[in-house]
Amino acid sequence: MSMFTAVEMAPRDPILGLNEQYAADGNPHKVNLGVGVYYDDNGKLPLLECVKAAEEDMMKTPSARGYLPIDGIAAYDNAVKGLVFGADSEPVTSGRVATVQAIGGTGGLKVGADFLKKLSPDATVLISDPSWENHRALFTSAGFKVESYPYYDAERRGVNFDGMLAALNAAAAGTIVVLHACCHNPTGYDITAAQWDQVVDVVKAKQLTAFLDMAYQGFGHGIAEDGAVIGKFVDAGLTFFVSTSFSKSFSLYGERVGALSVLCASKEEAGRVLSQLKIAIRTNYSNPPIHGGAVVAAVLNDPARRAVWEKELGEMRARIKAMRQKFVDGLKAAGVKEDMSFITTQIGMFSYSGLTKDQMVRLRNEFGVYGTDTGRMCVAALNSKNIDYVCQSVAKVM
Ligand code: PMP
Repeated sequence: MSMFTAVEMAPRDPILGLNEQYAADGNPHKVNLGVGVYYDDNGKLPLLECVKAAEEDMMKTPSARGYLPIDGIAAYDNAVKGLVFGADSEPVTSGRVATVQAIGGTGGLKVGADFLKKLSPDATVLISDPSWENHRALFTSAGFKVESYPYYDAERRGVNFDGMLAALNAAAAGTIVVLHACCHNPTGYDITAAQWDQVVDVVKAKQLTAFLDMAYQGFGHGIAEDGAVIGKFVDAGLTFFVSTSFSKSFSLYGERVGALSVLCASKEEAGRVLSQLKIAIRTNYSNPPIHGGAVVAAVLNDPARRAVWEKELGEMRARIKAMRQKFVDGLKAAGVKEDMSFITTQIGMFSYSGLTKDQMVRLRNEFGVYGTDTGRMCVAALNSKNIDYVCQSVAKVM
């Protein structure tokens, strides 16, 4: 009798399970649109020039690896603040933002969730329906009751904004609302600037706690454009949370580079909040790793390198947009009668294609085209070589 006799097998991660199935698929035409990763036009994971240059520089003077401070590399945290709020913005210059380096965007969310659980143990967390699949699990494991607000409108192919606003309006004061700052995962539909204004008004009026998940800053319309939503919450005089991920924007998935920023009412308050964020980090993993944060700091804090990054990020963004258009055109050319132009109104890495589970299963089994059962496809994995095949395959199951 082992102490593990009663341990149940946990369900497989749906996305990683798809990856395994994809790897085992012998179809020479197979295309993986399941996982949320940007590939270049050759189907390769890019190593950005700015990253390579920063790493080569670092290798010239290799350094010993002491522990980082609990909140990470100071130059990194400052660069994150600048990116999220604007380097010359009032929140940054007045010192009322507490930012910590975190293990990916996931780590930023988890540190924030642990801190919030101590601060407001009885609060409910609201996530969008649907949302990134880890939101629910992460806030549940931090001890919260997690519910959802309406988001996707399948019929009208867009956001059920009235439903979303009504749910926020009905939420109890203190409810934590997780909002996708840009490039909504999984649907690809963002709300408009005017709709954000309404969300900000409700968050303020109902005294909700906004937690903005910014995993794709720069992947939508641009760095400043995607970050503009943060300014709306600042201008409303709110205090709130922002998690940042550089996984996609720096193509540094495996380095786990992210952050959590908390906008507080004053510098003095930010000091106290920072001390509590450090406890959440200390009791989880003590302090963050060096490499990814050092690379991102070296790029963001050097104007020439940063310019290279902005150019490379712009190229990724433009390629995704071009693929969306090619996808729409290709589906039409392949004989799809339905208007698929909604694909170009979506933004970021993903497209909710509107295909049913049965159609997605057929795509996988008959054509080796892998997306999730929900109909989500990663358009950032389309390229000039696989696009025609994908369009023809989708046309055949539609
Ligand atoms: N939030 C959202 C909405 C995401 O899509 C992702 C990554 N897929 C994350 C957070 C996590 O980012 P990271 O991989 O940096 O932990």
